[in-house]
Amino acid sequence: MNVMMHRYDAVVVGAGGAGLMAALHLAQQGISTAVISKLYPTRSHTGTAQGGIGAALGNMEEDRWEWHAFDTIKGSDYLADQDAVEIMCREAVDCVYFLEHMGLPFDRTSNGRIMQRRFGGHTNNITGEPVRRACHAADRTGHMILQTLYQQCIRYGVRFFNEFFLTDLILTGEPFDPDTRCVGVVALEIQTGLLHIFHSKATLLATGGFGRIFKVTSNAHTLTGDGCAVVWRRGIPLEDMEFYQFHPTGIYKMGILLSEAARGEGAYLRNGVGERFMERYAPKLMELAPRDLISRAIYLEIREGRGVDSKDYVHLDLRHLPKEVLEKKLPDITEFVRTYLGLNPEVDPVPIQPTAHYAMGGIPTNVDGQVVLDENNNPLWGLYAAGECACVSVHGANRLGTNSLVDILVFGRRAGLHMAEFCKVADFTPPPQNPERATKELIERFMKNNDSNDKMSKIRRELQQVMMDKASVLRTGDDLRDCLEKVRELKERHLLARIDDKSNAFNLDLIEALELGYLLDCAEALVASALNRTESRGAHYREDYPQRDDSTWLKHTLVYLKNGELEFRYKPVVITKYQPAERKY
Ligand SMILES: Cc1cc2nc3c(=O)[nH]c(=O)nc-3n(C[C@H](O)[C@H](O)[C@H](O)COP(=O)(O)OP(=O)(O)OC[C@H]3O[C@@H](n4cnc5c(N)ncnc54)[C@H](O)[C@@H]3O)c2cc1C
Repeated sequence: MNVMMHRYDAVVVGAGGAGLMAALHLAQQGISTAVISKLYPTRSHTGTAQGGIGAALGNMEEDRWEWHAFDTIKGSDYLADQDAVEIMCREAVDCVYFLEHMGLPFDRTSNGRIMQRRFGGHTNNITGEPVRRACHAADRTGHMILQTLYQQCIRYGVRFFNEFFLTDLILTGEPFDPDTRCVGVVALEIQTGLLHIFHSKATLLATGGFGRIFKVTSNAHTLTGDGCAVVWRRGIPLEDMEFYQFHPTGIYKMGILLSEAARGEGAYLRNGVGERFMERYAPKLMELAPRDLISRAIYLEIREGRGVDSKDYVHLDLRHLPKEVLEKKLPDITEFVRTYLGLNPEVDPVPIQPTAHYAMGGIPTNVDGQVVLDENNNPLWGLYAAGECACVSVHGANRLGTNSLVDILVFGRRAGLHMAEFCKVADFTPPPQNPERATKELIERFMKNNDSNDKMSKIRRELQQVMMDKASVLRTGDDLRDCLEKVRELKERHLLARIDDKSNAFNLDLIEALELGYLLDCAEALVASALNRTESRGAHYREDYPQRDDSTWLKHTLVYLKNGELEFRYKPVVITKYQPAERKY
């Protein structure tokens, strides 16, 4: 197998909003920058984001970034690090104007300002009423972000390696050795099957989420947790993996997202007897309560027999909304309902169920995007992470809608700027001998497996089913134990399973096998962390421990993989001025 060498000051893995924002800021500083992406950049999942970017511009009514910060912290069930949240909410405003100046076509008010809409959990902190904070371009906001950033990256000379697949990090030693540096990555070129070594001074992982561990998900097929798994295998911890968000309104059985923008524009949720059941769970904010609360409420309604036709779904009701709202502000959602369900949202209620949506946890970083190794925030020099694969942590136990786009923009930019400063002062450190060895061995292993008839696709389906049944919205210790056992069995089967295609060019069987390995690692980290946390907080709800327990659990989980065994450590939550309190909406 031939190996190709490349050298760039900065290497960014992932061409979603986080990766492109970092790459653009690096290139604007004159740093030679390569972006590696398994997808063509504009196909990244950021492009499907519908609803909007939260920023306290105050264009429609009074708003302040401090209110945004408080809402985010309360939404996080007080697990977010408050210093990071303050940075995010303050810099969100500037990031929105930055995108506007780069050419993003936001919707406008009649006097030419950026238009804003309501979203769950975003409030006026004085009255407690919903506030209009989400900046949008119809319900295609993410598409516009991605197009805008990609164009600007091309303009500033970022070099793109599209359809290149990350397989490993290049470290100069063990991660905990203080002299160890990350000096690049190994990637497989999908078109040829060649391995490439990217040697760098600074490397950013911006590889997105891993919703594909669950059966019903809003996430694209490619969201398989690659960056998270690659670092975890190298002994770097993952943070708060037990907190996985289910978005309340996925199309029944398909999981395709119907954005919260629908409820932001006034849509209702109704159970099988036609009630707006959120009255019982969040009497003030109703359908605009945070996602963890609403998803749980839907599960409870269904369990008590109030699903529609006694089945496992409820209705999203858009029938009372004016026609022009559906056509102008929610055109994609309206189209999805027509295309996938054959229903007309003007006259038909839409069947929905919670859908796996967003990873609050991921690779631990500080507020400059540097990957950190432990509870003291010791960084691994040269390695950065941003976006959904990272955990700063600004979302804690539950993310508010619109805050992921804010996160990728603010922390993508901060990571890019910090990397640029680092590249200006650091020299290239030579990589160790044959950094591609582990990747080669893994690929050869899959190529040679001929004995088993176990298929990758079968293992993936079993994983997605068990995760959905035992580790989704409502959890118990017994279920999580069963689930962990099953995930471990699947991990063993995965290493022995066969792939039918043995060729080099465009071997998607092989890519699928590698992605399944990543999914299994993310699932193991998630389930083990969920079993370990004996309380309920945000999206992590344990029926056997239904209360939040601040005296024991007001702390972040760090889970390590060491010689095949898991080890837990804990990191304190940073509190600035918002003391933990009971969440009421
Ligand atoms: C349907 C949907 C709607 C959403 N709507 C909103 C919204 O309105 N507001 C909001 O705030 N959030 C929303 N979100 C969440 C938000 O869009 C994502 O969390 C965010 O866009 C993630 O951005 P990212 O840059 O981290 O990763 P992504 O945009 O997912 O990009 C990941 C990149 O990593 C690359 N990559 C991954 N693995 C590898 C590998 N092995 N090798 C090489 N490259 C790799 C991919 O090619 C891709 O370029 C939505 C999510 C979904 C699924």
